[in-house]
Formats: sequence, C-alpha cells, structure tokens
Amino acid sequence: MLKKSNAESELRKTVKSGPCGGSAPQNLCIPVSNVVSKEVRTKNIGQIEVFTNVRRILFATFNKGMKGQIDAFEYLEEYKKKLTPQSYTGLKAELGFYRNYRRVYQLTPALDCGDHTDFTGLVSNEIFRFDVTTNVDYKELKNYEPFQKDSNAKYKIAVVDISGNIKELIDINFPFCPECGQGRMIDTVVLLPGELVSDQALIGVCNNCEYFEEQNRISTHFLSDFNTKISNAFEYERDKMEYQLSVGQNPVFDTTKIVQSHVDMILPYLHKQFDKSIMALCDISYKLTNPKDGDGFNYLKVWWREKLAEDYILDEYDIDLE
Ligand SMILES: [Zn+2]
Repeated sequence: MLKKSNAESELRKTVKSGPCGGSAPQNLCIPVSNVVSKEVRTKNIGQIEVFTNVRRILFATFNKGMKGQIDAFEYLEEYKKKLTPQSYTGLKAELGFYRNYRRVYQLTPALDCGDHTDFTGLVSNEIFRFDVTTNVDYKELKNYEPFQKDSNAKYKIAVVDISGNIKELIDINFPFCPECGQGRMIDTVVLLPGELVSDQALIGVCNNCEYFEEQNRISTHFLSDFNTKISNAFEYERDKMEYQLSVGQNPVFDTTKIVQSHVDMILPYLHKQFDKSIMALCDISYKLTNPKDGDGFNYLKVWWREKLAEDYILDEYDIDLE
C-alpha cells in the first residue's frame, strides 16, 4: 500500500513531462511557447505537474489490491484542493472507469503523452485506445487523426458520468476514403421518403470528394424524413398562424425546434438498429435550378451533425439515393 506520506512526497517530485497530458483537461493544454508571461507559464506547468503526478499516484495506489482501490479514491479527495475543478472531475471519472471496466476491457492506464489515450484495452479481441471524458463537447475527431493516420491506432471515446459509468462508447475509427485518401468515410443516415413505411440508409460518405458507399438499409413504420416532418408540422400549425396574422400578431414557426425534437426521437433507434456511431442525419431534398419549368435535382441535405465530427460533415452532398 502506498502510504499517504509517500504519496505526498511523490507529488512533490518534479516530473519532466510534456505540457499537454492525454487526459489533462483542455485548459491545461496551453502551448508553452504561446504563453505570455513567465509567471503564467510557470503556473500552467505547475498545474500539469500536479495533475500528472496525482494521476500516477492514484493508479499506482489502485493497483495495490483491495485496500489500494479504496485508498486511491480517498487520496483523490485529499488532493482535491491542489487540482483544478476540471482535473479533479477528469481524474475521478478516469479512476471510476478503471474500477468499473478494467476487467471487461482488460484496461491498462496509459502514459500521459498527448496522444488522447487514457487507457489501452481490448474490445472483441482488438486493441483500442480509450479516451475517457465526462463531456464529449470538448472532443474533436481532427485531434485524433494524426495518430489514426500515423500508426493506425484505433480509438474509442468513453463518455462517462463522474463515477466512471459509460453513457456512450463512441467508435471514431472512420476509414480514410478509398477514392481520395484524404477525407473520412463518416457514418451518415439518410431518411428516405415513404408513406406508412419508409427506408433509412446507412452510408459512409467522404467529406473531401463526396464518394459514398451504402452499408445497410432498414425499413421502419412511421419514420418521416425531415421535409415531411416540417411540412406536417406546418399544416398542423397553419390555422393557428393564420389566426395570429389576422389579429396582428407575428406567428413564429420554429423549424430548428422541430428538427431537434425529431433527431432526439429517432437517433437512439437508429444507433441501435445500425449499431454504428452515427455522426449525421440527412434526407433527400430538391434543388430548384429553374423556377420557370421546375427543373432541378435531388441532393442530400444534412439536418443534424454530431459536434465531434462536424469538421468532416458537409452541409449537403451531391448524391441522389434511390
Ligand atoms: Zn474522398
């Protein structure tokens, strides 16, 4: 067991680590060269050293048997005042994740060296790097890409609560495009039009050259595309809006709200049906090129995108899906 006094002396030791730990919160990831004053720079490095040391001590303690597992969480509380609130939350979630899933995924805590890896582990006999977070809004696919490209590393983002329970395990290993080699084939669902029953197609689509591959297709009762959903909502509201106009009021028809509530309703279902990390939802829209004769063409309009991959999703794709 690591005694508290030992732990504290460990903490006081100077560790020559990089400025941006893999699991260090965003506010710690400050390029040292850009920091204006020496005072600020020293403070930032100090925070990173504390974070790195505490993290190392916590996992070393945890790995010393049953008592160590309890002590690790107690040490974290003792170190709370020395940590920034983000560091404390991050470490608590990481430690909880390790406690809850170390056997399931055969987790090994990773060195904090800026590769967005808190643990390595196994999923279905394949090696993955796990990045653990309580807030996926801070994560961006582009930050993992150099490692995915350079060493073929496979990543999963574990979105957890403060106790380390998984809320979502997001697979972000979208293949590089076989056509252009630059873009990524992002998992996107297209809602196809239909009456009572409609189809939903899962495609991988490249953000660079718009090359796409259809991967799967399902049929569902009463799952409207966005255009149908909006026009139905408009019809439903029409009488009310006409009345509002007649009494001099300004009717508001909020498309964004309708789209968001449709996304909230269908996304969990689509995730489950396709068993994929769906990053965007589209439907088939019509672009009018000649208002006189109604000439135009079909394209895919993106109505929703996951923030994590937003840099890899276009507003529309020049794809006509049957
Ligand atoms: Zn491409």
